[in-house]
Amino acid sequence: MSNDTNNFRRLGNLLVITAPSGAGKSTLVKRLRTSISEIAFSISYTTRPARSGEEHGRDYFFVSISEFEKMKDENQFLEWAKVHSNYYGTHKKTVTEILLQGYDVILDIDVQGAEQIKLAMPEAVLIFIMPPSFSALSERLYSRDLDSKSVIEHRLKAASKEVACYDKFDYVIINDDLDSATTALVSVAQAERLRPNRMSNKLKHILTSFPLS
Ligand code: ADP
Ligand code: 5GP
Repeated sequence: MSNDTNNFRRLGNLLVITAPSGAGKSTLVKRLRTSISEIAFSISYTTRPARSGEEHGRDYFFVSISEFEKMKDENQFLEWAKVHSNYYGTHKKTVTEILLQGYDVILDIDVQGAEQIKLAMPEAVLIFIMPPSFSALSERLYSRDLDSKSVIEHRLKAASKEVACYDKFDYVIINDDLDSATTALVSVAQAERLRPNRMSNKLKHILTSFPLS
């Protein structure tokens, strides 16, 4: 990146989005990405087998347990966790590089991962997506028709613990009506861009137009 301050771009925000499986995170993240510019999605590494329709490098980087452990030992992950019997991790270097380019980065990660991120990067913005009810969550998981009954039951069992953690987050969005939830998520991302430390580049030109007092 150039050292020329005129070319200096703001550092992006790290938006951490967490929800119990089936609450609508992927749907909302897709809508967020089409609603605002200069935002990128961090593709995680996982040892979970790919579901039908998923692509290596688009949905996840699908790796073996030994490959994952090697990356973990080499400290390549910003955070990692075992979720629903599989390992998942966020690649540190990729995220840092995108943030330095001034883009916001979205992480779709679980509660344990969100907690690790807050410790490593306190300025990260933690957003919890809450389903409208347990029965709605169950219906969404079954009607999505992506996982077996045993996988879905395992995920539903984990959901009670996950929703109880909502108060560790900076924002909570109830995903009942999809359009309202999308508006709320876009509003959070836009509002976070208006924090003074994110505005310094734009403010510089305005401030220098004022005579020194
Ligand atoms: P997650 O990524 O959190 O596991 P998905 O985004 O895959 O969840 O959503 C789970 C299912 O629920 C999908 O079939 C999706 O179309 C549906 N869904 C998402 N949001 C809503 C909503 N507000 N109302 C009804 N169905 C929804
Ligand atoms: P799925 O298998 O349905 O794609 O994801 C299962 C869970 O793993 C979701 O809660 C998702 O947010 C979480 N997850 C995906 N990638 C990561 C990651 O890199 N780190 C952590 N901690 N969780 C992740």
